[in-house]
Amino acid sequence: MITCSDINTTLSILHNERKQNQRIALVPTMGNLHAGHLSLIETAKANADKVVVSIFVNPAQFGPNEDYAQYPRTLDEDCKALTAAGVDLLFTPEAKLLYPEGTEAHTSVKVPGLSEGLCSNTRPQFLQGVTTIVCKLFNLIQPDIAVFGEKDYQQLRCVQKMVHDLCMPIEVIGVPTKRESNGLAMSSRNQYLLPEQRKHAALLYQSLCALVQKLQSRQASIDDVEQETVASLNRQGFISDYVSVRTQADLKIPSTETELVVLAAAYLGSTRLIDNISFTLDR
Ligand code: AMP
Repeated sequence: MITCSDINTTLSILHNERKQNQRIALVPTMGNLHAGHLSLIETAKANADKVVVSIFVNPAQFGPNEDYAQYPRTLDEDCKALTAAGVDLLFTPEAKLLYPEGTEAHTSVKVPGLSEGLCSNTRPQFLQGVTTIVCKLFNLIQPDIAVFGEKDYQQLRCVQKMVHDLCMPIEVIGVPTKRESNGLAMSSRNQYLLPEQRKHAALLYQSLCALVQKLQSRQASIDDVEQETVASLNRQGFISDYVSVRTQADLKIPSTETELVVLAAAYLGSTRLIDNISFTLDR
């Protein structure tokens, strides 16, 4: 695997690959890699000739009181995992290279509609920061395909709409969420959890499973199960941010649609967890 932190070298390597008609996949990450990231890389390998992974803790997507400084940075371990996974090129730019004048002075990409509500209520800068950096990475790397996790469902939908609206010739592939054996969605932020909290955190997924089951067996309305789940998470020691059933296609409040997704965010201590489950509701 070649590791590269400067733009010109990266561009010239990729130029050569493209000249040889190599199909390029990009997997953007913030590092501290786990099995969820590795499943994205497997999908990338299955759909392209060359796999590029980026590791960049993107300051533009963190709020002023969020965990940018503490975010786990484990480049040595990540390099080993990526080499073992057969990745061809690792792009590790410094923040100064991508935001030479800082993040505030930078042009940004905002996806209307999809980037509003849900995570944006508590993290107003997050999705705009993501679509801006992903747009930049797409312009630099010019991948044929890009792979994202369904774990960050609102993010995936925003990236898909950005690619569509801005006519980017890139196929965006979503990969199902990789979970611990107790159901907890894998996440770099799980490292912030104490061992006891880590066990407890699986209740978020279990609560969403219970919500889906109640809806599918017609025991309650969408509004009722959302409220019940918020209350039950709060009783179990979480501080719920939101629990919301939306349409899979465009994250709208459902009316008669059948392809739905329940999305949730909740704090356990100071750690913010997100999760979602896609499901079908017969009407
Ligand atoms: P991050 O490094 O957290 O920014 O994530 C980089 C990519 O990995 C994003 O597309 C995430 O959606 C994806 N990802 C993170 N956790 C998981 C997981 N548990 N399963 C599948 N994909 C994931």
